[in-house]
Amino acid sequence: MIERDVIIVGGGPAGSTCAWKLKEAGHDPLILDREEFPRLKLCAGWVTKKAMRQLQLKPADYPHSFLTYPEIHAHFKGLHVKIPGKQHSIRRCEFDEFLLKRSGAEVQRHEVKSIVREDGRYIIDGRYRCTYLVGAGGTRCPVYRALFRKANPRAKILQTATREEEFPHEWENGQCHLWFFDKGLPGYAWYVPKANGYLNVGVGGMAAGLAGSKYNIHDHWTYFTEKLARKGFVAHDYQPKGFSYFVRGGVETVRIGNAFITGDSAGLATKDLCEGIGPAIESGLKAAAAIAEGAPYSLEDVTSRSIKYGFVSKLIEYGMMRGLR
Ligand SMILES: Cc1cc2nc3c(=O)[nH]c(=O)nc-3n(C[C@H](O)[C@H](O)[C@H](O)COP(=O)(O)OP(=O)(O)OC[C@H]3O[C@@H](n4cnc5c(N)ncnc54)[C@H](O)[C@@H]3O)c2cc1C
Repeated sequence: MIERDVIIVGGGPAGSTCAWKLKEAGHDPLILDREEFPRLKLCAGWVTKKAMRQLQLKPADYPHSFLTYPEIHAHFKGLHVKIPGKQHSIRRCEFDEFLLKRSGAEVQRHEVKSIVREDGRYIIDGRYRCTYLVGAGGTRCPVYRALFRKANPRAKILQTATREEEFPHEWENGQCHLWFFDKGLPGYAWYVPKANGYLNVGVGGMAAGLAGSKYNIHDHWTYFTEKLARKGFVAHDYQPKGFSYFVRGGVETVRIGNAFITGDSAGLATKDLCEGIGPAIESGLKAAAAIAEGAPYSLEDVTSRSIKYGFVSKLIEYGMMRGLR
């Protein structure tokens, strides 16, 4: 049996941030991840200034692809609005591996299947035992499934559906563009250039809204990529992939005993732009503070909106949830 005071399941931004802070506080957490890093994580890779600040990461100290946009170009059915405020793009394959290494924590490749509580401790697959268990395994987190699903069921209405691809491309338009509600999409499509000649394009929307509409996510993908080609942004022979996660709902039960859920495992992506990296980082910091300092673990104040202009944010949330058709 491998014994640790803390085991973190998942080495994405939530898990690596938690591990980084625990190491600083003198703990020796073990991270278990089913994937070898660098691993593929479907994500547009847009990160906020706040997330960079919370990671104490200066752009100049980050050794991989990093691009800064002065603003976001939002398109609402023909209306072009510039949302001011610096934003950044990274490539998740680079960013997540960088954060994981920087944490200094030991990482073992292991797919967690079963978790049981015995004498106040957690036993994972009969092989690992710990006092504190952090669920940072994303949408399909086994800690969520084993210990939280009953107490904190995820509302179907908050589930997203996405389709995206990141590929090498010498882009000419180096701005971040978002197109909202095209053809009744209960969400938006994105064009996110990356440094060092990469581009990420994708579409995402609320799964429940898509289920009740004329077009599914594949139709929206086809429409969007044809539009990108027509408008001269990019033409490419695509091989997209899809993934689903949850936007912010109830966060009342995020700690049971000494088990915690963080990031996508707790369904923390913002209600307006479905941004999950920042909330994953914030919750990882909070879980570390709860373990290292005995701080209360609450996720109520984790960022739930990406856009600081309340009216715009609420309008987008309305369009995502109810459909601005
Ligand atoms: C298409 C798409 C685009 C997105 N774009 C953005 C964006 O531009 N900006 C933004 O902020 N957010 C975006 N998001 C959301 C963002 O990617 C997530 O919210 C974020 O990655 C959550 O981080 P996490 O650490 O909680 O989980 P993850 O990053 O998903 O990490 C979870 C880790 O757990 C591991 N794991 C899972 N199950 C097991 C198991 N059984 N055993 C062991 N390990 C396991 C996985 O291998 C993975 O490494 C996007 C999401 C999608 C799908």
